[in-house]
Amino acid sequence: MGKTATAAVVREPGAAYKLESVELDDLRPNEVYVRIEAAGVCHTDANMQVMVPMPAVVGHEGVGVVEEIGAGVDYVKPGDRVIISWPACGMCPNCLTGKRYICDNAFPLLFGGRRLDGSPTIKLGGEWISGSWFQQSSFATYAIAPEDSLVRVEDDVPPEILAALPCGAMTGAGGILSALRVGPQDGVLILGVGGVGQAAVIAAHMAGAYPIIAVARNPKRLDLSLELGATHVVNAGTEDVAARVQEISPGGVRFAFDSSGAVSSWKAAALSVRAGGTFGVCAAAEEETLGGSPHFFLSKGVRIQFIMGGSVVPRVFLPKLIQWYKQGRFPVDKLVQTFPFFEINEAFAASHDGRVVKPVVLM
Ligand SMILES: [Zn+2]
Ligand SMILES: [Zn+2]
Repeated sequence: MGKTATAAVVREPGAAYKLESVELDDLRPNEVYVRIEAAGVCHTDANMQVMVPMPAVVGHEGVGVVEEIGAGVDYVKPGDRVIISWPACGMCPNCLTGKRYICDNAFPLLFGGRRLDGSPTIKLGGEWISGSWFQQSSFATYAIAPEDSLVRVEDDVPPEILAALPCGAMTGAGGILSALRVGPQDGVLILGVGGVGQAAVIAAHMAGAYPIIAVARNPKRLDLSLELGATHVVNAGTEDVAARVQEISPGGVRFAFDSSGAVSSWKAAALSVRAGGTFGVCAAAEEETLGGSPHFFLSKGVRIQFIMGGSVVPRVFLPKLIQWYKQGRFPVDKLVQTFPFFEINEAFAASHDGRVVKPVVLM
């Protein structure tokens, strides 16, 4: 076997993580071992555990240093710092036409628990378990990652900042700038301001949009949205969101962007997107989400656009986010709070109850 690592193993969907010693498989020619320095905590790590056989190692925003490379790897060398971004097969029609964020094989690559060829990558107590979560399983001191997922970065930005970028910030910023292409003539309603939503606020501000209306139930998060560029905030717990939007922007806004998945967000969007506008959705919606809202969307010819991975190519887009961060235009540091790896359960709890916008664990 290739390498011993300490990983946060989960044994039942939603159960507590336990740090355990695991063995990683030997490298394939296209793979590398990354010594993980930091990994972002994302709701998907918790919500989608039901998709993989247990036990499993999850984590999909890994940042670290390449320790060893497979025989066919030439993009990186040992010692390079990398972000491990979203995987893609590279062979399907969408990948071949530059749309790797909607790779036909996304589901098995993200949630299959194995490599695309079906082979497992992580052993616990001599038995194979689910690894290869987003082809990385980065809640571990070492991870196997395919070369194709890696984004090489300089050493001048701290790992905990980089770890907030490859899913959360990429989805929020890419959703606004690349998928929806919000511009200075547009108003935007941003529903939910966790890590993805706050990144969307920053991006809408960069795009010159007005108004930028942030909606949440947590007053602290709304204060942060104002600091990051929102022009108005609405507390969904105490205010009528659609009525407030009409006051702020009579007739509604051209774009709504939902990262909450809540039925109430879909209803607010249905009443707030102006005719011919677009509702961008980047959260798996609750099953009954469309209840009550289709007539409004229909009567206004609204386009509903589901957004995966911010509709961006990580190797092109993540370096831009890093440059914007260094220029002070993309202050992702205001979202991040770090936890030592052994406090990973606390990091998830802090995210779940809203105390922390973007927890990052440090290995
Ligand atoms: Zn593909
Ligand atoms: Zn994520």
